[in-house]
Amino acid sequence: MQAFADVLPAKAIQTDAADLAPHLTDWRRSKTGVAACLLLPDSVEQVQAIVRVAQREGIVLVPQGGNTGLVGGSVPEPASARPVALLSTRRLARIRSIDSAGLCLVAEAGVILTQVHEAAAGVGCAFPLSLGSKGSATIGGLVSTNAGGVQVLRHGSMRALVLGLQAVLPDGSLLDQLTPLRKDNSGYDIKQLLIGGEGTLGIVTAVALRLVPAPPKTSVAWAGVADLDVALALLARVRSGLGETVESFEVIDEDALGMLLQHIAGSRAPLAGRHSYHVLVEAAVADDALAEILSDAINAGEVADASLAASLSQAADFWKLRESIAEAERLDGGSVKNDISVAVADVPRFHREAITMLAQDYPGTRPLAFGHLGDGNLHFNIRPPLGCDAKSWMASEGESARRALHDVIAAFHGSISAEHGIGTLKAAELARLADPGKLAAMRAIKAALDPNGIMNPHKIFG
Ligand SMILES: Cc1cc2nc3c(=O)[nH]c(=O)nc-3n(C[C@H](O)[C@H](O)[C@H](O)COP(=O)(O)OP(=O)(O)OC[C@H]3O[C@@H](n4cnc5c(N)ncnc54)[C@H](O)[C@@H]3O)c2cc1C
Repeated sequence: MQAFADVLPAKAIQTDAADLAPHLTDWRRSKTGVAACLLLPDSVEQVQAIVRVAQREGIVLVPQGGNTGLVGGSVPEPASARPVALLSTRRLARIRSIDSAGLCLVAEAGVILTQVHEAAAGVGCAFPLSLGSKGSATIGGLVSTNAGGVQVLRHGSMRALVLGLQAVLPDGSLLDQLTPLRKDNSGYDIKQLLIGGEGTLGIVTAVALRLVPAPPKTSVAWAGVADLDVALALLARVRSGLGETVESFEVIDEDALGMLLQHIAGSRAPLAGRHSYHVLVEAAVADDALAEILSDAINAGEVADASLAASLSQAADFWKLRESIAEAERLDGGSVKNDISVAVADVPRFHREAITMLAQDYPGTRPLAFGHLGDGNLHFNIRPPLGCDAKSWMASEGESARRALHDVIAAFHGSISAEHGIGTLKAAELARLADPGKLAAMRAIKAALDPNGIMNPHKIFG
């Protein structure tokens, strides 16, 4: 690793085990890797210098942002035949510009999502992507995983929010597309390969993000419904009444809510009584408009009970419940996490078939489902049977249950990764289930851009 010392200042290289430790284990604490050093560049030139050294010396580079990824992509492998360096974007943390008239913000890769939210709000705008990890996830990580979150329904996932992008490619050259152009048909859109590339095709160094005008009003409500068919009927009702102003339509099943109330300090159920499913809806309208629609839904027998957030702090409490589910699951002992999508209309039928399959073939398992119903994206997680050794169950039978669930998804022509990416967690399943034409094209692109395989090997491709 001496070669890095020739091109970087001393403060950009850490080798102490204690400094490296938090970067070597993933957020779920399911995987710990090894690396010889942690590199902390603070300029694009330093990133280029690192990549050129890595290329020359045959050193593997693992890019890391906030390390909140859920598929094992941001940490190195437990064993590697080649030396490994972690590259943290922590010091690439400047917001370079904000243009409220042109609705564009340029941020370096290490900027945290909440900083982007705050900067956009400061000029009367909003950056319409939000998720539970917003206090730690970085722009580079969000781009590299093509993150989704709770506003995809209206604004799309990260791919739809990137206007321009700058990245260092595996040969050390610069992809310099940091322009805020709304229209550009000049050949292949290479930046799209980096979006969702999970660090396998280069290191994103800065991004031009699309902003929207801050909505003048926002209304948030929590509703209890009997099943997913009814939840979809409510989605249709809300959309037909409020049109494009509907920003989020999230669903949480009763088991997930119970787990939240058990593990997250200070959490309270928004509604009295039990409801099989809970819907969290947000729209950029005045409260009256959403209240009227919910009242119609109650009168029509669709909604059993509902609560409109009476204040910003109550709205924040509703959202905190939704955003704490991943943490509650971790505290509960973990689960086999699945991040699937099917056509929106197929969600209820898919859910029924998946539950039936698990009850028959994996009795005692405790599935729970929550997620972005409006996008057809469920986090359908499988908790181990009570009383078993959770860790060993998840590594053996749990993986078998995951494959069986993926077979159900395949029958629905759905996706085994709606928003978290592939990483190492789903690499084998991608190889088993993906369209062979797509896989061959992906491998050809990887081989062309990174022939020596130095960029985040084993991720996506196994
Ligand atoms: C509580 C919680 C809630 C979450 N909710 C959601 C959700 O609703 N929707 C969703 O999509 N995800 C969600 N996630 C997953 C995660 O937050 C996202 O995947 C996020 O995009 C990761 O950002 P990060 O900066 O932490 O990236 P990391 O975890 O550090 O890295 C993720 C991947 O991107 C690569 N990478 C990171 N930075 C760069 C870079 N600059 N250039 C190239 N490659 C890079 C890494 O190598 C890795 O493969 C959640 C996670 C948690 C913990």
